Amino acid sequence: MNIIITGAGRGLGYELAAEALKRGYGVIAGVRRPDQEQTALSKLAETYGEKLTIAALDVTDEAGIAALAASLQEQGRTLGAIINNAAVLNARDTSIEALDFQDMLITMDINLYGPIRVVKHFLPLLTEPECSIINISSEAGSITNAYPNDYPYGISKAALNMFTQQLHVYVKERGIQVLSVHPGWMQTDMGGAEAPTNPNHSAEGILDLIEKRTTPEGHFMFVDYTGKDMKI
Ligand code: NDP
Repeated sequence: MNIIITGAGRGLGYELAAEALKRGYGVIAGVRRPDQEQTALSKLAETYGEKLTIAALDVTDEAGIAALAASLQEQGRTLGAIINNAAVLNARDTSIEALDFQDMLITMDINLYGPIRVVKHFLPLLTEPECSIINISSEAGSITNAYPNDYPYGISKAALNMFTQQLHVYVKERGIQVLSVHPGWMQTDMGGAEAPTNPNHSAEGILDLIEKRTTPEGHFMFVDYTGKDMKI
């Protein structure tokens, strides 16, 4: 299986790339600036050679995404999974009165329109048996548990869950599983050092979901990294 992962240079994205390679999969690791030093990924490249492709992938750049998809297609590459991991957390704990709309626009562009652009262009390559699209979401995107003053991030993830559900309905007859996954509160640049979850542990859980083709028990395709249903 070949897996494309966005935001693969650090945090959960890097751990997903490392774990997928460890399990023997081919990985296309999307990073914004492959020309800049990607120390951790370069080390993986030394170990795994051609199994790892480090590719320029800024999820806000539709032309760049289309070019990468076209180039992989020309090389005859196929995909078994797309993991939309890249995201930003902006303006948390900012009241509605103080909200800077730039933070809304940037966050929606990356966290919501990014996955939509990626799926738009990579869906035709998703031709391996038992494919998956994993949208990395967050419990902050749960409408049931909405908390105030998290407008850009919470709204972007709630809308991402809607995209997951729409896609699920669209591709289920092709046998493609589509899930929104809450990865846990993780020790990453975004989650901070005090977070309880090691991102490698989350990455293992997410790859298990891809391998086991976990079906949520309820109506919504929103689970945590252990496969437990999350509330929409
Ligand atoms: P980090 O902040 O550690 O890493 C974010 C990644 O996204 C980086 O690789 C960054 O690349 C990339 N990225 C940001 N903008 C773009 C862009 N325009 N195009 C391509 N890549 C981009 O985040 P985490 O690893 O913690 O989070 C991973 C996922 O898990 C996210 O979807 C997040 O919302 C979700 N999540 C995280 C939680 C946590 O506790 N950490 C909790 C719940 C959900 P670059 O290095 O170039 O900036």
